Amino acid sequence: MNVIEKEGYDYKFDSSACVACGGHCCTGESGYIWVKYQDIVNIAKFLNMNIDDFASNNIKKVKHKYSLIERYREKEDDFACIFFDDMKKQCSIYSVRPLQCSDFPFWEQFKCNKDEVQKECIGIL
Ligand code: SF4
Repeated sequence: MNVIEKEGYDYKFDSSACVACGGHCCTGESGYIWVKYQDIVNIAKFLNMNIDDFASNNIKKVKHKYSLIERYREKEDDFACIFFDDMKKQCSIYSVRPLQCSDFPFWEQFKCNKDEVQKECIGIL
């Protein structure tokens, strides 16, 4: 087990559960995976792409913010982040994933809602 806790949250997270999960936090209902400019720079560099090419193929503008795009998965009838590797069942840009991803499951919306986060993540203790 690799248990992580964060002040203010009434649950803990065992990150070793990710191996068995299959990427539940990267797939499912359509949503947003917010990226800041530095995320864009870091991911483009990781992929050996220039920023313009990376942005035009992988990012969408939502009002004044930017999100990674998703792709529809026919077999599962759901959506996956463009960087979720269906074969390996893991993030293909893990070392440079956005803050939203590295912060999961310690999101503000789950702070007082252990029941909700437990529906999303099998690593919640
Ligand atoms: S960037 Fe990686 S960790 Fe974040 S949603 Fe996409 S596949 Fe998952």
